[in-house]
Amino acid sequence: MPKSSGPSKHQLQVQAREQRKQERAHVGEGFVEPERWAYDGGIRRGFVIDMDFNPPRVIRKIGWQHCLKCRKPCFSEDVVRLRLCDLCREDEDRFT
Ligand SMILES: [Zn+2]
Repeated sequence: MPKSSGPSKHQLQVQAREQRKQERAHVGEGFVEPERWAYDGGIRRGFVIDMDFNPPRVIRKIGWQHCLKCRKPCFSEDVVRLRLCDLCREDEDRFT
């Protein structure tokens, strides 16, 4: 028996999902980001998850850490890339 022509049920589902994804991207609801929490010494990491991926994908990690420059605890919205506190980051901006 030949395979049926036209879009399969699966393809229709994929299309519907793509469409929903675009609508969500449009209103910017594809991210799940945990609320900030009280200082914990830099132990906990929060995961920012992009729900548009299947399975959902971790795109950033947030959490408390110590500023690389002044060693003060600061809450980072991206522990991999943002490693200075707000004040030191402003300093850096001034010098660049
Ligand atoms: Zn600092």
